[in-house]
Amino acid sequence: MAQFEWKVRVKNETKLLKVGGNKYKLVITEFRPNYRVDLFEGTECILSDNTSTVSFKDKVDTSKPVLDQVLQWGAVMLEHRKICPRCAKQRILQPLTENDKKYDSFEGYEEMCPGCRVKIYNEMSARKKDEQTSSEQKLIEEYRKNPPNIVCFTVEKDAEDYVKGIDNPDVEDIGDGFVIAKGVVKAANGVYYPVFLAICLEDGGEFYGAEFIADNYSEVIEPKHALPYLAGGKEGLYPFKYRSLSRLEGDWHQSNWPRFS
Ligand SMILES: [Zn+2]
Repeated sequence: MAQFEWKVRVKNETKLLKVGGNKYKLVITEFRPNYRVDLFEGTECILSDNTSTVSFKDKVDTSKPVLDQVLQWGAVMLEHRKICPRCAKQRILQPLTENDKKYDSFEGYEEMCPGCRVKIYNEMSARKKDEQTSSEQKLIEEYRKNPPNIVCFTVEKDAEDYVKGIDNPDVEDIGDGFVIAKGVVKAANGVYYPVFLAICLEDGGEFYGAEFIADNYSEVIEPKHALPYLAGGKEGLYPFKYRSLSRLEGDWHQSNWPRFS
């Protein structure tokens, strides 16, 4: 079994240990009374543990001084090196968790090196971000080609009647304390918009935004997309007031209900 040795002058890391064409070292960081232990392959940290964990203690003789335990842990971990099925490098492999296996990207693997696992998660989140950006871009493009005709009125009652007439519940519970409530927005320039209000009732009625209605789109228009297409634009809107059609239990923000707040 290959053995790590502490450096003579630097107290927190071992000399490089050559095994199977790679160079390894252990680096410790003290968190009294324990140590975090990092195992490096070349310049890359490929595994970490802490001298206080069960997974660490299971691999070492705990009757020895802790710094000896660290050396023993390193040697044991190197013994466990295998060919990673993903990067085909000689690595310390870890079994995938049930959560990992939920994702397609991990399909066909039972274990892999920690580096590959992190890489897969990074790739997945980058892909997700790309998809979001591109669907957002498509929407902006679509609105530019075919500007949404945001429904608005100069008479409050007309806005109220319009949203009342839409075939949705007056208040819809969408979970996590949030509701979508039919309502009316009164813009600073006196224009009334029939809208769907997003309100968090667990938050005392915190207002999260108004989705606008366009008569040439079947989907509601998110506030950030609607702004350029409002009568009088963004400037005409702020500061605005709003009210829901129904009284919302726990909504302290709408202090003037049934009038605008
Ligand atoms: Zn790998």
